[in-house]
Amino acid sequence: GLADRLQNTIQKIRGKGKVTEADVKEMMREVRLALLEADVNFKVVKDFVKKVSERAVGQEVLKSLTPGQQIIKIVNEELTELMGGEQSKIAVSNRPPTVIMMVGLQGAGKTTTSGKLANLLRKKYNKQPMLVAADIYRPAAIKQLETLGKQLSMPVFSLGDQVSPVEIARQAIAKAKEEHHDYVLIDTAGRLHVDETLMNELKDIKELTKPDEIFLVVDAMTGQDAVNVAQSFNEQLGLTGVVLTKLDGDTRGGAALSIRSVTQTPIKFIGMGEKMDALEPFHPERMASRILGMGDVLTLIEKAQANIDEEKAKELEQKMRTASFTLDDFLDQLGQVRKLGPLDELLKMMPGANKIKGLNNLQIDEKQIAHVEAIIRSMTKQEKLHPEIMNSSRKRRIAAGSGRTVAEVNRLLKQFEDMKKMMKQMSGMQQKAKKKGGFK
Ligand code: GDP
Ligand code: MG
Repeated sequence: GLADRLQNTIQKIRGKGKVTEADVKEMMREVRLALLEADVNFKVVKDFVKKVSERAVGQEVLKSLTPGQQIIKIVNEELTELMGGEQSKIAVSNRPPTVIMMVGLQGAGKTTTSGKLANLLRKKYNKQPMLVAADIYRPAAIKQLETLGKQLSMPVFSLGDQVSPVEIARQAIAKAKEEHHDYVLIDTAGRLHVDETLMNELKDIKELTKPDEIFLVVDAMTGQDAVNVAQSFNEQLGLTGVVLTKLDGDTRGGAALSIRSVTQTPIKFIGMGEKMDALEPFHPERMASRILGMGDVLTLIEKAQANIDEEKAKELEQKMRTASFTLDDFLDQLGQVRKLGPLDELLKMMPGANKIKGLNNLQIDEKQIAHVEAIIRSMTKQEKLHPEIMNSSRKRRIAAGSGRTVAEVNRLLKQFEDMKKMMKQMSGMQQKAKKKGGFK
């Protein structure tokens, strides 16, 4: 994933203290490759990288001490933005029934998705949908829909395969009105490729039924092809939404990004399996993470949270809130952190951490932790509880006792103050996040 790719570049930059435009360029190359790998359309990638570069070369990244995380953040934000907001709303006609046409190539998942959508409409919105079997060409297509209908106890309208799809649609809508179905889902025929005959038939159905929604069903596994398919269907029919199927497979989902940016049509749902309840609203931010392969970063953060001793964490939180956090607690905290790996790296991965003042001064590495521990151990109980009593003779004594310098003792005391401030801010952030329903 992108996170891995960027790690290498980040390693190189780490020793340098400052990030140059050339470094950003190198990172952008990684972003580009990661997106192409995720099957995002070439032109979309090009435009996207250009946009992200502009932001990255700006102040944000160059000045940051965590350029890698900054870039991931920008890329993630821009990806989410590109894919639009959550769009799982379905039209409601003020003259029922609401008509939804399902279109797409053969095997994309139209019939399955018709069933899933009818199921969702009934379950979540309390609607009474009717399914219409308008694919008269594919052998057993009608039977397939009827089987799904039976399984869902959902009415399926069919006139066999000797009546034209347009006529089937016409009679279906009349029947739906008569029987007060509020939704009609027309399962149309597909071809192996987009062709004129297919499009003409779909146009005829559209002309007659004046559908409220035309959903293109596309197979996410087809990657690049999905974009061309989406483009021609959109040009010919004017789509109102896209359903991306088979995302339960190991596809990276790059098609989602390309389809959205090429057709400007919202992706409304994703298919996550063959079962009738495997249809989910499309969440752009989740898809962005999937495309970036950021799962590993998220896992790392989760691991960190799991590793910190729950009891200790609660106790510390309490202390932070009451501002009674002492150098002894600091020592304790360092011990916890050692179990997880470098503190600064972990903190920098946390969303919002870059906004915390003082964090940038907290460059703690393993060796330094040992030094810090030595210094704190050389303090008296009184000094640890009340660092404000520290004067130069005390500092000299501590320095001598720990084998460090007075400058280091001073630095530690400063860091401790910074950390205390930072923790107050973090605990504030956490309180806020809790109110909003927690970190995602
Ligand atoms: P149609 O030709 O467009 O009507 O496609 P179908 O609905 O017949 O689906 C073709 C195949 O894809 C079937 O085997 C479906 O079970 C399968 N399928 C559809 N949607 C999904 C999905 O979201 N995930 C998985 N794994 N399979 C799906
Ligand atoms: Mg079908």
